[in-house]
Formats: sequence, C-alpha cells, structure tokens
Amino acid sequence: MSGTPSDIKLIDENGIRIDGRKADEMRPLKIEAGVLKRADGSAYLEWGKNKVIAAVYGPRECHPRHMQNPAKAIVQCKYNMMSFSVSDRKRPGPDRRSIEISKIISEALENVVFTENFPRTSIDVYIEVLQANAGTRVAGLTAASVALADAGIPMKDLVPAVAVGKAEGQIVLDLNKEEDNFGSADLPIAMIPRTGEVLLMQMDGHMTMEEVEIALGYAKKACQEIYEVQKDALRRRYAAQAGAVDEDDSSDEEA
Ligand code: ADP
Repeated sequence: MSGTPSDIKLIDENGIRIDGRKADEMRPLKIEAGVLKRADGSAYLEWGKNKVIAAVYGPRECHPRHMQNPAKAIVQCKYNMMSFSVSDRKRPGPDRRSIEISKIISEALENVVFTENFPRTSIDVYIEVLQANAGTRVAGLTAASVALADAGIPMKDLVPAVAVGKAEGQIVLDLNKEEDNFGSADLPIAMIPRTGEVLLMQMDGHMTMEEVEIALGYAKKACQEIYEVQKDALRRRYAAQAGAVDEDDSSDEEA
C-alpha cells in the first residue's frame, strides 16, 4: 500500500470510483456450486475481474498421521494463484503470501465446520485463483464455504467475506486493484450475517475508529448480500440434482 500517484484519481468529484461504482457498492458477484465431478464439493466464483475455483475433498483419512486429531477433523486449505492470474507472470508454487492466506482461511473454516463429528480426518480445501484483481482471499473464502456445503459437510453456517478499505480519504466497499494498490487501508472481513460473528478480520493501513465503524457497517450489509448469492448457488445446485434424480426415476418407469 503506497501513496496515490498524482496521475491516478481513485474517486471523482461526484464520489464515483474508477470502475463506476459508488463508495458502498460491490462488484458484480456470481457463484456456481458443484462444478467439478471429481471433488466431493466445489464452487466457481466470479467477483468483478476475480475468477476463483474451490474444491473440497473429505472428510478423509488425515496424512501425515501425526497431524491427526483424535477429537476432531482438521481443515487444511491450500490457496494458490495461477501464474497467469496476474498481469506479470507469478512465479508458480507457494510463497509467504499464499501460506498466510491458506492459514487464515483454514482457521476461519475450522470455526464453522462441525469438526468434532469427524475425528482423525482431514477436510482438504483447494482454492485456485485463475484471475486476480484484489480481494482474492475473501473471494476464496466465500467460494470455499459454498464448496464445503456442496460436499455435504455439516457447518454452523456459510461464510461470506468482503474487503472494505479507504481510498482518497473515503471508506469504500470491495476494493478493486487500483484501490488496493494506491488506497490507504484494506480490511478484509468474514462475518456470519445471522449471528454477527466475525471469523476473519485483518487490517493493513490506517483508519480512525469512526472510519472503522463505517467500514464495518458496509461490510455487514455486503456480507448479507453475498450470503444470499451463496444460498442461491446452493439452491440451484440442489434443484439441478433433484431434476436429475426425477429424470432417472422416469426413465426407470419407462423401462
Ligand atoms: P487479496 O487478493 O486478498 O486482496 P492482497 O492484498 O495480498 O490479497 O493482493 C491484492 C492483489 O494484488 C491481488 O488480488 C492480486 O491482484 C495482486 N497480487 C498479489 N500477489 C501478486 C503477485 N505475486 N504478482 C502480481 N500481482 C499480485
């Protein structure tokens, strides 16, 4: 995060951002559940220019065995950005950033999954970022919780997440790449709308307490919106599955 170069104006005199949004407006979000045949659960998400896929395997036997917990399952997330996901080719493989993001997403998910139902097992969550444009950790977490639900893993609730931040002295919802690069604060947050429980909160940059309150208000409203999109993705997935079962039944009758 650095100062704004004089030639980049993140918000115009009418309060409109570089991509045409108002301060409290989110980028368009689309989620589809059950996109991968081989995974136990999966989800594909497009959020603005971000494209993310999440795949869930398990609960399955935990390897290496010394990582097994006799009382509960462990949630192991691997977040990865494809080398073609950003404008300069990203060096493939894990780096400090992806290890950190994997850890915070694992911890957020471990707090919603009923891990005690599956002792000694591992629930493996893979997040692949195909295209990145700021906010990929919250996009990854949002997709991963839909993939977990698609895998039929019992959870307290879905986990919607969004980043709020500050650009040119104004609080903005769902930072784009320019705001992430040249803005003055970035605050990714995951919140369960039903309970107000916070499962992830990080902050980078500078905000006053009043600004944090405005930002949290924006995030709360956005998490409710994201939650509806997540539920809708699962509803469509179940409807498609039910349709497929009905078709099987009718073909049995015909035979
Ligand atoms: P998040 O994606 O959760 O916002 P960061 O704030 O660390 O996480 O990254 C912001 C954005 O910077 C990413 O979404 C991506 O567009 C870009 N970015 C991150 N890492 C790299 C990299 N190694 N090379 C090029 N761009 C990157």
